[in-house]
Order: sequence, then structure tokens, then C-alpha cells
Amino acid sequence: MIVAIDGPAGTGKSSTSKAVAAKLGLSYLDTGAQYRAITWWMLTNGVDVNDADAVAAAAGKPSIVSGTDPAEPTIFADGQDASGPIRTQEVSAAVSAVSAVPEVRTVITELQRTIAAGAERGIVVEGRDIGTTVLPDADLKVFLTASAEARAARRSGELKGKEATDLGATREALAKRDQADSSRKTSPLKKADDAVEVDTTELSLDQVIECVVTLIDK
Ligand code: C5P
Repeated sequence: MIVAIDGPAGTGKSSTSKAVAAKLGLSYLDTGAQYRAITWWMLTNGVDVNDADAVAAAAGKPSIVSGTDPAEPTIFADGQDASGPIRTQEVSAAVSAVSAVPEVRTVITELQRTIAAGAERGIVVEGRDIGTTVLPDADLKVFLTASAEARAARRSGELKGKEATDLGATREALAKRDQADSSRKTSPLKKADDAVEVDTTELSLDQVIECVVTLIDK
């Protein structure tokens, strides 16, 4: 069973995907964390993330390793635990530029396919291009959406302490990232033709989880 869950930032992809995977005994892969980890590695190793040639040349250098237990997903870049640093605003602001570079996408896509193929009981994979590019033969494709207000409110609630900016700034940052992710040339953020679209604006997390589980059972 391979489930692809795509959509823009703040639509509840991670919470939904983890819960569905845990409920059904499947593995879980956060592909955004992989792009964030490679971005973090570049930022900490002196690669100019706004120089596409430099990013392309460095794309194959770090080893990116994802742990796929939905109860405790992990992400390592060159052996270093990257789970904390990948959530900073610095990484969030740079990740769209890095993930738009085709050489980066080739490396990460290959990794994602290998992980999915090795998941014995099946896997829930969340991202932007899983249903369209990475796993076009997935058994179920879901595309989550939500209003800009709801997405900003959810993301704002997730940010803690110093990083908790006001709602307007969060909304602006999300809009900027979504615009970059939807307009890039290689594998943009896009609903697959055969994906089921679920608008989560008015739904609780439990309702979204229930909805996806029902779609899997069908
Ligand atoms: O899901 P998350 O918001 O952590 O993703 C971070 C970024 O990684 C996205 O904004 C996008 O630039 C990139 N990404 C991607 N393709 C995916 C998943 C994430 O380009 N499948």
C-alpha cells in the first residue's frame, strides 16, 4: 500500500500522514524534511543557496538518511541529527531555491523511490510532487488544501518562542514558498489528475485522518 499525500505548506500533511501511517502500521516519509536537510547542509557547509550552479554541484555530496517510523521520524545529514535545525526560519526561507534545482530533485527523488520500494508493509509519503512525479503509481493520492488564513494560523501555532512571528508574517512567508514551489520548472507543487482533493479548512485533524483512512479502505 503506497499512499501519496501532497499539498501546500500548512494544510496538515505531516500530522495527517503520521497518524494514518501509525494507525495502519505503515512506514512514513516526510520528503519536505529531506529537502530541508539538504538545504541545512548547504547553509552550514558554505554553499551559496542562491547560486543554482553551486547547489547543483553540491547536490550529491551529503548523505541524507530518513527514519520512517511514524512515531519517531528522524532525519540525518552526513551523520548529523538535523531534525531541530531544519525547522528554523533560515532553512524555511532557503529551501524553495534549493529544491528547485533539478540535480537536487534527481538525488532526492531517487532516495524517495528506494525508501518506498523497501517499505515492506507499505508507506505514507508526504510532499509536493509525490503523486505526480515520485510515485505516480501510488495506490491512493490525496491532495490537501486549506485557506491561506487557516494555513497561516496552523503554522503560527507550531512555531515556538522566538520563532513565533505574527500571523501576517507567517502568511506572507507561506505564500512566498508556495508561489516558488508551484512555479518552478521541475516537478512543481501540483495536484495529480487522479488525486482526491480534500479541503481541510473546516475540518479537525481527526476528521482529515478519518477521511484518508476511509479513502484507503475503499
Ligand atoms: O513540507 P515542508 O514544508 O517541510 O517542505 C519544505 C520544502 O521542501 C517545500 O517548500 C518545497 O520547497 C520542498 N519540497 C519539494 N518537494 C517535496 C517536498 C518538499 O520541493 N516533495
